[in-house]
Amino acid sequence: MRKLVLFVLILASAASVLQPALAYVLTGAKWSSPATSMYVSLGAPWDDAFITAMNRWNQSTPFQFTYAPQSWDPCSNPNNPPRHNGVKFSDTLCGDSFGNSTLAVTETWTMGGSTIVQAGILFNTKYTWDVYDGPWSTSTYAGKSDFRRVAVHELGHVMGLDHEDSVPAIMATAVSTGGVIVAPTSDDIAGINAMYGSGTPVPGSPTANTYHVFPQFADGRAGDGSYYRTTLMVSNPSSSAASNCTFQLYGLTVNGQGTYTFTFAGSGWTILPINSDQTLQSGYATLQCSAPVEAQLLYSFYSAAGTKVSEATVFSSPPAGMLQVLGDNRGGSQIAIAIANDSNAATPYTITAFDNAGNQVGSVTRTLSPRTNLAAFVSELISLPANYYGQVVVTSGGGTASLIGIRFTGAAFTTIPAVNRSALAPTASTYHVFPQFADGRAGDGSYYRTTVMIVNSSSSSGSCTLRLYGLTVNGSNVFNYGTFSPGTWTIITSISSMQNLTSGYATLRCGMPVEAQLLYSFYLASGTKISEATVFSSPPSGTAQVLADNRDGSSLAIAVANDSDQSATYTITAYGSSGDRVGAVSRTLSARTNLAAFLSDLISLPPNHYGPVVVTGNGAPSLIGIRFTGGAFTTIPETMR
Ligand SMILES: [Zn+2]
Repeated sequence: MRKLVLFVLILASAASVLQPALAYVLTGAKWSSPATSMYVSLGAPWDDAFITAMNRWNQSTPFQFTYAPQSWDPCSNPNNPPRHNGVKFSDTLCGDSFGNSTLAVTETWTMGGSTIVQAGILFNTKYTWDVYDGPWSTSTYAGKSDFRRVAVHELGHVMGLDHEDSVPAIMATAVSTGGVIVAPTSDDIAGINAMYGSGTPVPGSPTANTYHVFPQFADGRAGDGSYYRTTLMVSNPSSSAASNCTFQLYGLTVNGQGTYTFTFAGSGWTILPINSDQTLQSGYATLQCSAPVEAQLLYSFYSAAGTKVSEATVFSSPPAGMLQVLGDNRGGSQIAIAIANDSNAATPYTITAFDNAGNQVGSVTRTLSPRTNLAAFVSELISLPANYYGQVVVTSGGGTASLIGIRFTGAAFTTIPAVNRSALAPTASTYHVFPQFADGRAGDGSYYRTTVMIVNSSSSSGSCTLRLYGLTVNGSNVFNYGTFSPGTWTIITSISSMQNLTSGYATLRCGMPVEAQLLYSFYLASGTKISEATVFSSPPSGTAQVLADNRDGSSLAIAVANDSDQSATYTITAYGSSGDRVGAVSRTLSARTNLAAFLSDLISLPPNHYGPVVVTGNGAPSLIGIRFTGGAFTTIPETMR
């Protein structure tokens, strides 16, 4: 069955009274699962605009569009597979004529009348197309049709929405001069949720899990008096379901204890220091829970005098058959790896280092006993050339490995997460938002540098575009990279300058799912690296949370990005350790801007405050926490709620 849905242009608006609260209209047909790929290769600026249109749905509904950077005819016959969803400009409707005032058409094909199997979008070449937000076809855009919001509308049809004219909706039959709706409204979103949803307003957090493995856990005092401390941070992203958890240490105990049990109520959390003054010991740890939780370890290193020298956030490492970490020993850095054999059988692991050109530098195999870990500098395992940088790949000879990288520069260290090469991990995405990006030199000569790390862990090739908002570096705010073949990667150090310190936020969009992180480094005027943190991308979330811990002389800063085309108001609320509300503040962020501030500059906090900080708003915020102790800092990732 073929169905056409026309989107028409009207030049004079007839004001209507808008009454019903929710009034979306469904075509009666839907996809068998809430995801499909759109095949788009129209050139600039249309491809970018189309991807943004897909993201406007992806960010606010459970339906997920992915981008296939390939031309495909939307008129192709679905009876001759493969079936793909094509997009093109055309002066006819697959040979028929467009109506008098039809801007664009979506054709959908169904099986049995109710299951959509293919959709195609045609934009009418009769119109002059441009890309803009704001009032339709006025002032500088008079006579010009906005391709992007029409794409948002057509994508609504692709998912199975029909026209809706009784409430404000992107799915209105027609667009009028001066019209301002450019994204799905609450009614449009409710329509998608009614078809596909579980009521989930945004995709679930990619990092919440019922089982976490931390390949390294250290506690105690070294011979020179310096010492390591580890803090467990867990939060329950569900506001209703409780989760019962057991945290288990392997290879060490702390104060004689190796097992810790917790019950987290809805939205429950803990910040639990697990430390002692014993002689330095290390091993690994697991967290097993009855419902998914977010979990990290905060790994702190102190001088004998008690000054915190460095701190890193250690993420759990999902077990996989083949994993890799980026090893970058330039600039006086050294990569260490920790591998955990979280199984009951002795297992051989092959560790292979590849250089920047993909050549094998060396390889070694180590067999780990059941429930043990190995932590070592890669240079102690494999002879590496000076200034080595490349990929360190760990392959399990049976069962799985859990892997993490730790990068040391002098006493400063940060975590380098592992990329799963056996399967596409949930953290791989075609779109990443980094709520904070800083570059340049402060008044005292100290400076920040940001390094971008991208790995194509998917099976397709593609290129990527990094976009800066609120700042430029060396005069640019758009950087293109690629083409990346499957398994290839890059470490981009060139987005740095010695301009006056400036900051904003960044997005990364790719033609295929990638793993991406920023490495955020702070140097003294003398060029000594003082601290370094790995900054993860933060998916937009209806409600985002970070755990603040301002004890021990630390201060939490937060960065919130409004990665949308509308201004949005966010409420930041701090809670205390017993769930009491400490304070709240609202801030309006203009379209495509970010806010970065110490929490204590936004909300008056009691001394030694610790507890959750929750950000909600009428746009989906992307959030990250950065915890400072003197010159040392580390990242505190968001929990999506
Ligand atoms: Zn339409």
